[in-house]
Amino acid sequence: MANDQTERFVSNIVPEGPITSLRVLVSGQAEQHREHRYGSRFPQLFWVFFGQSWVPLPLHFFLVEHREGLVLFDTGIDPAITRSKTYIRQAIGRFLLPRIFRLHLEETDRIDHVLAGAGVAASDIRMAVISHLHFDHVGGIAQIPQAELLVSDREWAILSEPHPERDWILREHIEIPSAKWRQISFAPTDDPLFDGFDGIHDVAGDGSMVLLPTPGHTPGSISMLIRQAGWAPILLVGDLTYDAALLEQETVPGTGDRETLLASFAKVRRLKEKLPGLEIVASHDFAAEDAVARATGHATNKGKGVAP
Ligand SMILES: [Zn+2]
Repeated sequence: MANDQTERFVSNIVPEGPITSLRVLVSGQAEQHREHRYGSRFPQLFWVFFGQSWVPLPLHFFLVEHREGLVLFDTGIDPAITRSKTYIRQAIGRFLLPRIFRLHLEETDRIDHVLAGAGVAASDIRMAVISHLHFDHVGGIAQIPQAELLVSDREWAILSEPHPERDWILREHIEIPSAKWRQISFAPTDDPLFDGFDGIHDVAGDGSMVLLPTPGHTPGSISMLIRQAGWAPILLVGDLTYDAALLEQETVPGTGDRETLLASFAKVRRLKEKLPGLEIVASHDFAAEDAVARATGHATNKGKGVAP
């Protein structure tokens, strides 16, 4: 839990329930093509090479302070990707990366530095839920070797398919000896709240962090529903959308499987109908911090992730 004894005491007496804080952390800034974020009539390779309009995006990950330990949702990017010429093993990947993302990273954007800035030691992280295996979501796993890494079995299966690196799933930074991966499958539920989803996975067994399959961006992408007494419910959706407003408008991004994305969008919208006030929080959405602040009633101290 938090390093600071005073903070821990204060946190524990505020809300009832297993979660005491949710922090939005930033692992650097980047730019992407407008067509990537907002969708395009043209195929991906067209805008990768000919797109002229770049838009900024933040690289977020999330820290949940749960009674049983600190849980991350994703782990950010490793800034070594811009420093090391061999971070991406395949030449085609090294060629394509700057044509898809302009990365603006500092050494301090690595997860251990970001967590330290939030007053948390990387060695105190107990678990990380990985929304999907893209390099900008698994970039911190080497810094948290003690943590259990939860990934959907469907997402993990991509590693056995030909050329996962062509979809920006870099095996050499995922299958590292120190990583404690645990594949999860989704169990059926008769809770009508989750009608339409192909099962759920209750991370802590108390309903406070429920994983839901939300494929489309990648085949095994997952979202995490956070419920805590006194807060509005929050759905961390990873890269299902780059912007929560676009999901509500049924605008799919320029990457991923369009039909699967639309089906997942519909499930999320149905969930929101049943959970009024649900805040949908996307990893690359500048609105993420405000949405979490609205739901939790705490200022998140933009970009710094300081505890409420
Ligand atoms: Zn992604």
